[in-house]
Amino acid sequence: MTTDRGDGGDAVARLVADRVLDVPDFPQAGVVFKDLSPLFADGESFRGVIDGILEHYGRGSFDVVAGIEARGFVIAAALAYAAGVGVVPVRKAGKLPREVLSASYELEYGEAVLEVHADAFVANQRVLVVDDVLATGGTAEATLGLVERAGGTVVGFTVLLELAFLGGRKRLAGRPVHALLTV
Ligand code: AMP
Repeated sequence: MTTDRGDGGDAVARLVADRVLDVPDFPQAGVVFKDLSPLFADGESFRGVIDGILEHYGRGSFDVVAGIEARGFVIAAALAYAAGVGVVPVRKAGKLPREVLSASYELEYGEAVLEVHADAFVANQRVLVVDDVLATGGTAEATLGLVERAGGTVVGFTVLLELAFLGGRKRLAGRPVHALLTV
């Protein structure tokens, strides 16, 4: 039997491992897409991962959750509700209606831009940033920088699944990365 590894212990790592589907060659040849929609669709597992994240950080240790579009929104909203705090969306370019701060970052092919409302955070508000998958770390690096430029203090970056071979954690060296499952 193989054991599932993660920063939240074996049981919660297994919840993710049991409900993630590998989709080869999506969205392009050579990429194995980690589809977490079966996890989101299973009430008990979804609750288990949200509770696992909250248990790790502890209630009262963050003031707001920032979720990265789009799958990060699913996790961020549930976590924020469970913790009794609010949620801030970090969105792709052109989606937010008021003044924004922007960060561009490299994708495998080309460039992408993420944005947050300039007034999204109160100064020094403690922000927990959430996404589904940590791959190369470019998305996370851009987002953490944005949160700080907008006045927030990053207290953590948490994902359900980390693809260790892509080196995201190294790229985010010095940042408080937490992954429920590392493969
Ligand atoms: P990266 O910036 O390379 O760390 O990529 C992370 C972002 O892209 C996250 O928002 C993920 O949702 C998405 N992503 C990257 N690679 C994958 C993958 N293999 N499976 C699912 N989502 C991925």
